[in-house]
Amino acid sequence: MNKKKINIFGVTGSIGKSTLQVLREEKIKDKYQPFVFSANENVDQLLKDCLEFKPRHAVIANESKYNILKKGLSGTDIQPSSGKKALLELASERVNWSMSAIIGFAGVEVALRCAEFSDVLALANKEALVCAGELLLSKINYHKNKLIPVDSEHSAIYQCLQGENRKGLKEIILTASGGPFRNWTMNDIKKATLKDALEHPNWDMGDKITIDSASMFNKSLELIEAMHLFNVSFHEIEVVIHPQSIIHSMVNFKDGTTIAQLAVPDMKGPIGYALNYPERDTIGLENINFTEVGQLEFFEPDYEKFHSLKIVEKVGRNLNLGVIFNAAKEVAVEKFISGEINFLDMALIVEKAINEKSLLDLTKSGKRTFLSLVEIDLAARDFSRNINF
Ligand code: NDP
Repeated sequence: MNKKKINIFGVTGSIGKSTLQVLREEKIKDKYQPFVFSANENVDQLLKDCLEFKPRHAVIANESKYNILKKGLSGTDIQPSSGKKALLELASERVNWSMSAIIGFAGVEVALRCAEFSDVLALANKEALVCAGELLLSKINYHKNKLIPVDSEHSAIYQCLQGENRKGLKEIILTASGGPFRNWTMNDIKKATLKDALEHPNWDMGDKITIDSASMFNKSLELIEAMHLFNVSFHEIEVVIHPQSIIHSMVNFKDGTTIAQLAVPDMKGPIGYALNYPERDTIGLENINFTEVGQLEFFEPDYEKFHSLKIVEKVGRNLNLGVIFNAAKEVAVEKFISGEINFLDMALIVEKAINEKSLLDLTKSGKRTFLSLVEIDLAARDFSRNINF
C-alpha cells in the first residue's frame, strides 16, 4: 500500500502533539509517511518528534537554532532546514495531507501554500480564514483541493452537513464552553490574572488560544471562520453556551430538525476525522457514556461580560476587517500576558482598532493579496501597540 505523504506545520504545539498522538494509533501509523515537520523555537521537541516519526524534512523557523537541529539529525536521512523561506518552499511541495497548526497570523502564509499544494488541508489555524478567507478558499477551489476544518466546532458542523442539501439549512449553532469566567462577575473578571485565564474547564490547549477562550475572542474568531467555511451570514449563526463541551456544535434545518455532533472534548477527535476522511476509524477515543454525563446544559452568552462577541459583529458585516480584528487581538493578548493591561482591556484595544479610520481605509484600497494583508496586519499591530490606558 502506498503511504500517504503528510506534513505537520506547528508539530510542537498543542494541535501538533494531538496529531502525533493520532498518528501513533495502531490502525493509523502504517498508512502515512511524514514529509515535513515544523516548529518555531522548540528545537528539542522538534528533534524528539523527528527521531520518532522520521519525516523527510525538519524545519525550524528560528534560524539561530539551525545548528542544533542539524547536529541532532546527523546520521539520519532527515533533512534539516531553517527560516521562513525554507518553510514556505517545503509547504509548496505536493503532498496528500497537511496539518496547518502554526498559531496566529504567522501561520496564514503556510496555510495558503497548503491550500495550493496539499490534496487535503486540515486547517487548525483559524486565523487563515479570519484574515485571508477569500484568498484561501479561492486557492482551494482553483486547485480542486479539499479543506477539512479541525477546529472542533467547525469539524462538528462539517460533519452535521455531510450528505445534506444545503438548501435545507436554516442556521448554525456554535457551542461555547463559556470558559473559566462564565460565572464570574465583571468586577472579578477585571482583576483576573494570567493563571486564572489559563484554567480552561474542559479543553487542554495552547496558552494563547486558552486566553482567547476565556475572553470569548476565540468564539468571535470562530463566528467569522464559520461564515467563510459554510457560506452563511453572521445572523445565521447563534452562539450558545454549553458548559459540558459534549456537543461541539449543531445545525438547524428548515424542517425543524437539529443535527448535533457529540464526542468527548479532545482534539484527537477532529484531527482523526480530518485524517481518516471520508472514513472513520479507531483514534484512541471512547464514545461518551451518557449516563455518566447525566446532564447537558445550554445558556445564552453574556454579551456585556464577553464584549468580544459584540465587537465581532462589525467584522461579520465586513469580512475585510478580519485581519485588523485578529492583529489587534494578538497584540492585546501579548499585552495581557506581559501584565501591561487587565483582562477586559483586551476587548477595548480590539474595538478601537476596528473603528480606526486609517486602518479601515487600508482595507478599501486595491485587490486583496497576501502582501496587502501583511500591510494591514502590520499597521493594525502598530496602532494597537500604541494604545495606552
Ligand atoms: P501552540 O501555541 O500550542 O503551538 C503553535 C505551533 O506553531 C508550535 O509548533 C510553534 O512552534 C509554531 N509556531 C509559532 N509561531 C511560529 C512562527 N512564527 N513560525 C513558525 N512556526 C510557529 O498553538 P495551538 O496548537 O494551541 O494552536 C495552533 C492553531 O490551532 C491556532 O491557530 C489555534 O487557534 C488553532 N486551534 C487550536 C486548538 C487547540 O486545542 N490547541 C483548537 C482549535 C484550533 P514552537 O513550539 O517552536 O514555538
